[in-house]
Amino acid sequence: MNSASSRKTDTTAIAPSMTERKIPPMCQHQPSCPTAHSTDRESARLMAHHPEQGWSLLCNGVLLFEDTGELLPDGQIIAPHRAMTAV
Ligand SMILES: [Zn+2]
Repeated sequence: MNSASSRKTDTTAIAPSMTERKIPPMCQHQPSCPTAHSTDRESARLMAHHPEQGWSLLCNGVLLFEDTGELLPDGQIIAPHRAMTAV
């Protein structure tokens, strides 16, 4: 006897886009920090501060550079907006 019912549909596991892991876990601060797309983004809590390298990482995933330039978690670049006043 020939049973041809052993054919399985090849279900490849649906892989969630694990490669896009740029956005940090949800903010746990109270009140929560402004999002990276908020105009208030710079007031998010500081997560990492590297003055020797000239950048800081904010809780909302924004990289804040010492010249006030910013790099958003989605790769968008915000030009420096605060004139460096020479001392
Ligand atoms: Zn936060």
